Amino acid sequence: MHAIFCAPSRYTQGPDAMQSLGAELATLRLAGPVLVVTSRSPRARLEPTWHASLTAAGYAMHVHEVVGECTHAEIARIVAAATAAGCGVIVGAGGGKVIDAARAAAVQLQRPFVSCPTIASTDAPCSAISVVYSEAGVVVEILVHPVNPVLVLVDSRVIAEAPVRLLVAGMGDALSTMFEARACMAANKPNTRGGAGTRSALALAELCYRTLQADGVAALQAARAHEVTPALEHIIEANTLLSGLGFESAGLAAAHAVHNGLTVAPGTHDFLHGEKVAFGVLVQLQLEGADPALVHEVITFCRAVGLPTTLAGIGCADLSEALLQQVAARAVIAGESIHNEPFPVTADLVVAAIRAADAAGRAHESHHGRGEGLDRPSQ
Ligand SMILES: [Zn+2]
Repeated sequence: MHAIFCAPSRYTQGPDAMQSLGAELATLRLAGPVLVVTSRSPRARLEPTWHASLTAAGYAMHVHEVVGECTHAEIARIVAAATAAGCGVIVGAGGGKVIDAARAAAVQLQRPFVSCPTIASTDAPCSAISVVYSEAGVVVEILVHPVNPVLVLVDSRVIAEAPVRLLVAGMGDALSTMFEARACMAANKPNTRGGAGTRSALALAELCYRTLQADGVAALQAARAHEVTPALEHIIEANTLLSGLGFESAGLAAAHAVHNGLTVAPGTHDFLHGEKVAFGVLVQLQLEGADPALVHEVITFCRAVGLPTTLAGIGCADLSEALLQQVAARAVIAGESIHNEPFPVTADLVVAAIRAADAAGRAHESHHGRGEGLDRPSQ
């Protein structure tokens, strides 16, 4: 197995970075016209900026507004819009579903793709992966494309104005990166591109974790005040770039598989990807028999920024034994990333680890009080 490391060609981040969209495309010698794929809310806020920036750089702009999920039908609509306008480059500007749909359309058309996340809630923007849903919101396919975005452009002022809960969820997704990378490396399992992980990917995953520990709380305070500070910039980079490169080039393991298992429980549906992944990290640590000091460190971080640490924290206060068994069974289906752990994982082990993670979270809560966390899922 060869070692493979994948990344976007260029990553640009900073306050008002969206104003340089046109200049960035010109720097990369990309040919227009430009199709901006977006949704209602980012369009309302940013269309004048896109228009001014692209026009100044000599690009014609077309806008396609996505409604709802990233479905095969939506991808086909974007392909049709881009074809009708003869677009040379496709920009996805919005949340994960917008970016995933635009990315899939760009790959079908063999056009360069530019990713402009307007929230920092997951590590998807830098990746070459699109998650495709049914109209009912069920995952139907995960497309692993051959190419990463040619540019990822992140406007930190736009991120600072987004709801705080989304940034915190992004920290939950980023929290998993190092632990899953370490598991894959220990087991010598392939990353998401089918290659061995590199030491570089592991180092980025470790920097991701250290950044969360160093800057997570300060970034949360900055986001609450809608201020762009160095700590917030560091966390945007951790959530978007470090976690993105880390998960794609080092691999996923138990935490994301436990997340996928938890989606079986209806109570978790009001919770965000990164919130469920954070609890998945705590389950992975129990599964691996991690040092209690490390478990304590991770729980303390989660509670300091308002990530869930108990089943109650993800809407499963009264999870029945039968549903718990179903969650565990889903987490260990063939092909799941949980099998990248360096030991065999069974549903029984997952049930025990979920119980142990919940108990550890509750014990911490009763020792240290309810903490500073966010009220959710109201935010
Ligand atoms: Zn994730």
